[in-house]
Amino acid sequence: MAVIKRRLSKTNLSHLTSGGHRLAADKLLEAAKNQGIQTVPLDVERLAGSFGVKVKVVPMKDEVSGHLSLNDGQWEIAVNALHHPKRQRFTLAHELGHYVLHRWQCQKFEDTKLFRNNETNPMEAEANRYAADLLMPEPEFRNYINTVSKNINDIADYFDVSAYAVRVRAKNLGFSGHGL
Ligand SMILES: [Zn+2]
Repeated sequence: MAVIKRRLSKTNLSHLTSGGHRLAADKLLEAAKNQGIQTVPLDVERLAGSFGVKVKVVPMKDEVSGHLSLNDGQWEIAVNALHHPKRQRFTLAHELGHYVLHRWQCQKFEDTKLFRNNETNPMEAEANRYAADLLMPEPEFRNYINTVSKNINDIADYFDVSAYAVRVRAKNLGFSGHGL
């Protein structure tokens, strides 16, 4: 998708992360599925909407991927409109990771160069991992590789993520060979 559609969702998952509860990505996906939200490929914007988080797609400097911020009591995710749509999806999932895991610690997360696998800031590494867990759930990821295709572009298309994100995910899950 060239532009992330703006859609208000009637579903509401915000209770799942209230009171500082760190909701695991697989539990979040399970709840999303029960609410009728498509999980593969993940309708990540609808998922954000189900937490009452506003999503904006706006042009930003190239080195900025996006941010999560609290403005007048409203959490908002902004994604760089000039980046590839697949990268925008990863950014959105990353910011959603900050929202679920870290929003009690900080009211503004500004992100640059999200795709570095050697991220040393623990919160950033955690948000990257959360995004990968949401967009490429481990059971589905393993199943696809083992039963459908080991081709990186096939996997990237299936989960609607970049080839780079697939490579990082495959490496972190212990896959090697077959171009992975
Ligand atoms: Zn971040």
